[in-house]
Amino acid sequence: MPNLDTDGLDMAEQTFDVVILGGGSGGYACALRASQLGLSVALIEKDKLGGTCLHRGCVPTKALLHAAEVADTARESSHYGVYTELQGIDINKVNEYRDGVIGRLYKGLQGLVKSKAITYVEGTGRLVSANTVEVNGEKFVGRNIVLGTGSYARSLPGLEITGRVMTSDQALDMDWIPSRVIVLGGGVIGVEFASVWRSFGSEVTIVEGLSRIVPAEDEACSKALDRAFRKRGIKIKTDARFAGVTQHDGGVTVTLESGETLEADILMVAVGRGANGAGHGFEEVGVTVDRGYVPTDERLRTNVPGIFAVGDIVPGLQLAHRGFQQGIFVAEEIAGLNPRVIDEKAIPRVTYCEPEVASVGYTETQAKEKWGADNVESYEYNLGGNGKSQILGTAGFIKLIRTKNGGPIVGVHMVGARVGEQIGEAQLIFSWEATPEDVAPLIHAHPTQNEALGEAHLALAGKPLHAHA
Ligand SMILES: Cc1cc2nc3c(=O)[nH]c(=O)nc-3n(C[C@H](O)[C@H](O)[C@H](O)COP(=O)(O)OP(=O)(O)OC[C@H]3O[C@@H](n4cnc5c(N)ncnc54)[C@H](O)[C@@H]3O)c2cc1C
Repeated sequence: MPNLDTDGLDMAEQTFDVVILGGGSGGYACALRASQLGLSVALIEKDKLGGTCLHRGCVPTKALLHAAEVADTARESSHYGVYTELQGIDINKVNEYRDGVIGRLYKGLQGLVKSKAITYVEGTGRLVSANTVEVNGEKFVGRNIVLGTGSYARSLPGLEITGRVMTSDQALDMDWIPSRVIVLGGGVIGVEFASVWRSFGSEVTIVEGLSRIVPAEDEACSKALDRAFRKRGIKIKTDARFAGVTQHDGGVTVTLESGETLEADILMVAVGRGANGAGHGFEEVGVTVDRGYVPTDERLRTNVPGIFAVGDIVPGLQLAHRGFQQGIFVAEEIAGLNPRVIDEKAIPRVTYCEPEVASVGYTETQAKEKWGADNVESYEYNLGGNGKSQILGTAGFIKLIRTKNGGPIVGVHMVGARVGEQIGEAQLIFSWEATPEDVAPLIHAHPTQNEALGEAHLALAGKPLHAHA
């Protein structure tokens, strides 16, 4: 139906069951599920379908981490009696491999969206009323609107991202390997990049303002990762507050509040991600936006009826699989399927550095706060007793947290090479509120790292096998 805008010009207008703003993990998952359910969908994306995760996040970083693992294996192969020589890292070739992975997934995703009855709209969208998004002068009216505009790499006040001071976005574009790097921030993104660069031969220093790296994880995981990183030659400065940086020919000088100065080729700023909820008309039509975030209720409804939000703009863990699940949830909600509310505590978390850190549920500190220190018990199974981990040459542990008096597992925390692959079972155990006694009789294949998860439950159920009581 033709529609006159304020200048009296004809504006094209189309109506859909769902109009989605942002084609990242949250937005495209919502589009795919909604179209599966027979809803008419418009998906609006200004850049590349797939968003941060596919193009600047999960996938490229994990490809780099895999190349890093190959470099480590080549470097350390003589330990296994296999003699190889690591002649060098050709970063352009590494990037080519990484981009090949992204390219294939991107093509697949584009094909998937094309194969559904989804109207894919390229362009920058703006919410102009509670049910309308405008793109390039065209209006997309939605019986429901889904906001999924994602997040961006944050910096610190006064710290400009330019030249040799970069975030993960620019770091992924680098066609050279720095000899010395300072990584500001010891969270997930910071430690993953630190790990890659160290494997590629860089001198790496992590500067973290808090008292430990990966501070959102259980303290035992932070300690173990700290130890493993230092063993790998990564320098870590905790309780170290950044004061400033100057750039000069060939490098940066970073000053800490203590007065200490550090020299490096680049400074990578990894101080978290800001939510991208401002500047798209949300507030103007009455949607509450809080420092870029769009708060929702547990059914992902914003304060404006008919407008939902998914992904990184919704306060909480900024992870791709959370976005996927939220996207699916909203599509099902709109279709009237009354889906089960997402349990944020059950969202698995994996940090893919070497060694990996993986967890689900409550940390020991959180569990003690929730149930009382006397009502919580924990057990740490050392990977020293796990055959496959010994074969791989990795150290680490699986830490379980349960509530006492027959209570369920409320937290699983793991450190070690490849432990991220174990998070699936850990998540099921947590989500199904299994007790160690429920898990103990389940058979875990030998020799796998997965077996360590079984052993940890055997021990907590009072019948340790390859472990001291
Ligand atoms: C370096 C790095 C590594 C990461 N690694 C992992 C990992 O290993 N595992 C994991 O689970 N998560 C990881 N993440 C996080 C993950 O990438 C995000 O949680 C996920 O991408 C969030 O999805 P989203 O849909 O909310 O937002 P995004 O993926 O950011 O997508 C939002 C989309 O909206 C578009 N958009 C914004 N405004 C408009 C507009 N006005 N009009 C049209 N389009 C618009 C953007 O172009 C973008 O494509 C990583 C992130 C980074 C930066």
